[in-house]
Amino acid sequence: MAEKDYDAFAMAQEQFDQVAESLGLEPSVKALLREPMREYHVTMPIEMEDGSVRIFKGFRVQHNDARGPAKGGIRFHPQETISTIKALSMWMTWKCSVVDIPLGGSTGGIICDPHNLSPREQERLSRAWVRQLSRDLGPLTDVPAPDVMTNGQHMLWMLDEYETIHGGKYPGFITGKPVGMGGSLGRTEATGYGVIFTVREALKEINLKPEETRCSIQGFGNVGQHAVKLFLQLGGRVDCVACWDQADQAAYSYYKEGGIDVDELISVSDRFGGINKAGAEKLGYEVLPGDAWLEQDVDLLIPAALENQIRGDNVDKISPRVKIIAEAANGPTTPEADAHIRERGIFLIPDFLANAGGVTCSYFEQVQCNMNYFWEKDEVLGKLDQKMTSAFLAVADLARRKNLYMRDAAYTIAIGRVAEACRGRGWV
Ligand code: NAD
Repeated sequence: MAEKDYDAFAMAQEQFDQVAESLGLEPSVKALLREPMREYHVTMPIEMEDGSVRIFKGFRVQHNDARGPAKGGIRFHPQETISTIKALSMWMTWKCSVVDIPLGGSTGGIICDPHNLSPREQERLSRAWVRQLSRDLGPLTDVPAPDVMTNGQHMLWMLDEYETIHGGKYPGFITGKPVGMGGSLGRTEATGYGVIFTVREALKEINLKPEETRCSIQGFGNVGQHAVKLFLQLGGRVDCVACWDQADQAAYSYYKEGGIDVDELISVSDRFGGINKAGAEKLGYEVLPGDAWLEQDVDLLIPAALENQIRGDNVDKISPRVKIIAEAANGPTTPEADAHIRERGIFLIPDFLANAGGVTCSYFEQVQCNMNYFWEKDEVLGKLDQKMTSAFLAVADLARRKNLYMRDAAYTIAIGRVAEACRGRGWV
């Protein structure tokens, strides 16, 4: 049978329902947590460089804020859907909870392709999104951050718009700001490094040394590049990197016998994490089909691009050698593929744990903004390592004690904490 055509939110709810059942959650708690608490749809007229006006659609979804102000990215993507945003907002709730930071979950998006927008047009769009939502966002309400195809510059435009509307300085309104403008050192590296902190601990769990570990990764953007850098620093080897080719409108995998050189590949990549095919070939990389990253004879797979990349139709291609999958992207594995991975006994580091480094560092950014005192990079990354490691160890420990799949163990901890906060507040 062909795989069910999953929409991301249905997948997030399915995962939640399974854990809610095993946790024995009361019906009211279950009903509250399987839906977002608030969902905003906005329409934004934007003046384009040629004088025409184009209408853009955007969203913000606040899934749950029982544990603190909602927190989550704002992404620019031409295929953005409300379903993806709802799923991401729910995962943000679990993510903040699993690393035990006092924040809830939200996510936003704008349907647009920044490849085809000038910086001015992107600025207008960023500001328009904040204007539409300025009453519903804020340092004590809901705090945006960069996500796919947005960066510190977008955050600064958004901050400026928010401060203009509200007439004051609110550095805690948004995170992922440029360093020197309220941003935290280490934020750029945080998500990718956080992934590798959990990979390092997972390798210990299965008695494998980083120097004996080969990796294949999908995605060479912010998360992918930093994950690769730290993994190589630990002594690991990366054989294959896959990414999207904007010119060909297709994905390719780049393979190098003996392992890739990250600086070399960065030298032929663009700011969106795309690799120039001709440039890579010149450097001796073999260009393989988009899915080839998944079929490599490696120990570790890191999906770090988009959702729904490991599916029922390609999960069989995963090499028998693979021992760990670290989900750096949000929702990269469909439920069918997940069942297969679980059955094979592959050690999975679920997305909302593996990629929680970004939001953890965003939380550190808020803390630093509140103190108006900024830490050195080593201090930020040290604190990040501590948070990620203790979150990982708590999940791995529960998984071991209760003989649970890592995803279920992480959900058990995360959902349990949010349910407790909802009960404690008297909501349910
Ligand atoms: P990015 O835009 O910087 O990079 C995305 C990468 O994925 C690029 O290399 C792109 O070429 C590649 N890609 C896109 N579509 C592809 C396809 N169909 N096949 C193969 N490769 C493809 O984004 P990012 O910030 O690195 O985020 C990557 C993932 O991590 C996303 O799922 C995002 O939600 C998640 N995430 C990001 C952060 C963060 O701090 N940036 C935090 C948590 C989770």
